[in-house]
Amino acid sequence: MTKALCEASLQSESSVTLDPQSWDDIRAQGHRMLDDMLDYAADIRDRPVWTPIPDEVRERFHEALPRQPSGLAEVYREFTDFIVPYATGNVHPGFMGWVHGGGTAVGMLAEMLAAGLNANLGGRDHIPIEVERQIVEWMRQMFGFPDEASGIFVTGTSMANLMAVLVARTTALGRSVRQRGIGEGGASLTAYTSTAAHGCITKAMDIAGFGSEALRCIEVDRFHRIDVTALRVRIALDRSAGRKPFLVVGSAGTVDIGAIDDLRALSELCREEQLWFHVDGAYGALGILSPALAPRLAGLECADSIALDFHKWGQVPYDAGFLLVRDGIRHRDTFSAPAAYLRRETRGLSAGSPWPCDLGPDLSRGFRALKTWFTLKTYGTERLGAIISRTCALAAYLEARIVAEPRLELLAPVQLNIVCFRYRTADANQVNGDIVIDIQESGIAAPSTTILGGQLAIRAAIVNHRTDTCDIDALISAVLEFGAQRSSSDDGLVLEVERSPPLAT
Ligand SMILES: *Cc1c(COP(=O)(O)O)cnc(C)c1O
Repeated sequence: MTKALCEASLQSESSVTLDPQSWDDIRAQGHRMLDDMLDYAADIRDRPVWTPIPDEVRERFHEALPRQPSGLAEVYREFTDFIVPYATGNVHPGFMGWVHGGGTAVGMLAEMLAAGLNANLGGRDHIPIEVERQIVEWMRQMFGFPDEASGIFVTGTSMANLMAVLVARTTALGRSVRQRGIGEGGASLTAYTSTAAHGCITKAMDIAGFGSEALRCIEVDRFHRIDVTALRVRIALDRSAGRKPFLVVGSAGTVDIGAIDDLRALSELCREEQLWFHVDGAYGALGILSPALAPRLAGLECADSIALDFHKWGQVPYDAGFLLVRDGIRHRDTFSAPAAYLRRETRGLSAGSPWPCDLGPDLSRGFRALKTWFTLKTYGTERLGAIISRTCALAAYLEARIVAEPRLELLAPVQLNIVCFRYRTADANQVNGDIVIDIQESGIAAPSTTILGGQLAIRAAIVNHRTDTCDIDALISAVLEFGAQRSSSDDGLVLEVERSPPLAT
C-alpha cells in the first residue's frame, strides 16, 4: 500500500529522485558495462600493460564542475575511451611492479553487489557485519589466534600498521593516553623494526605522536632478515639509557625482496622483554595458505597483531587491508568512544555491539568484506594457496633465467616472489633505471625499481595470478633488448665481467 501511495503522490515529479527514468534503459547500459569489464579481463593480454598518458587525455580531467546532467552512455564512453586505456596495468599478467594484486572477475562482481546494497559497516545490526565477522573468524583460524582475537577491514596495511602501533601505545601507557596524550611517559617509548621494513611503519610512529626517531631500524642479515642479536643488544642499550622499549614490528615479506624475519625468535624475544609483537604481513602473511611457505611463517601465530592485505596475494580488488589483534579488549580500548548518537541497544537496529567503529578510526565503512568473502568461498584457500606457490615458482624461473644469462646479474637472493636484478653495464644505475622506464613505456611489462646496497635493481614482484612463464620470458627479452640499446658502446666490456656465484636461497 505504501508503494502505491508513493507512486500516486509523486507521479508528477518522477524525476526528482536519482533513480533512472527507465529501468529498462539502465539495465541495458549496465549489461553492456558488465560485458565490457568481463571482456577487459578476458582479453587483457591484447592490451599494453601500461600506456603513457597523452597530454590531451590528462587535460580532459581538468574540466569545469558539471552543473548539468549528461547521459550515462556518454559518460561511460569517456570511461572506456579515456580512463580504461590509462589504468595502472595491474590486471595485466605483465605487471610486476611494486606489490600489486591482479583482481578477479569474482571480486569485481562482488564489488558491484556491495555497491548495490550500499551497506554501511560502521555498526548496527545487519548481516553485512556478520559477513565481516565471519572473515575475522576465518583469520583467527588461519593464523591460530584465540577466540578473543578481533579484526577489522581497513584500506590497507599502512592503516593496519598505524592502528597496531596505536593498540601497542594503549597497552604501554594505559587507556588514559587517549585523554592525556603520550606525555612524558610516552616520550621515552621506543619501537624496533628492521632497515628493510616498509616506510609506513616510520610514518605510523610519527602519526602516533612518538616521532619517527623513536623507531630503531635494526640491521639485517644477507637475506634481509632482522638481526635478532643486534635487536637484543639495542633493546638492552635503550633500557640502560632510560628508554622504554614497547614494540617490535617484524616483517613477513619485506617489500624490497620478500624476506621473512625469524618470527619465532622475535616472538620469544618479545615475550621475554614484554614487548608488543606486531607483524607487517602486508603481502606475505597470506603465504600461510601455501603449504610450501607456511613453515617459513612459523611464529606468526604468536604475534600480538598482524596486518595484511587481501588486495595483494589474495587477489581481492582494491582495497582490502585487514588488522587482526590477539587481545580484542585492548583493540577496543584503543578505539571505542561512546557517543549519544551511536547508542547501543540489545534489540532493534542498534543492537550487535561492539561495532566495527569501536575497532578503528572510521565510522562509515564500505562492505570490503563481501568481495573477500566471495573470493575465499569461490576459490577456497587451497586454490588461493596454489596461486601463491605458483607466483614463487615463477620467481624461481625468472631467477634461473637471470643466473643463466651472462648479461644479467641477480642482486638479492630470491626468497618468495620478488626478483631483483640488473643488466650488466657501465653506469649501471642510470642505465637500469632507463631500462625499467623503457619497458614500462613499451607496454611489454611493468617492473619497478629498488635500491640494494647503493645499486639500482630492476625489481619484478610476481603477484598476479595471470602471470605465466611467457610473461617472464617477455620481461627478460625486453631487458636484454633495451639494455643493449642503452649501452651499445660498452657491450664488449660488459660481457667480460665475471659472473658472481649464485646466491643461496
Ligand atoms: C604493500 C605493503 C605495505 C603497505 O600496504 P598498503 O596496503 O599499500 O597500505 C606495507 N608493508 C608491506 C611489506 C607491503 O608490501
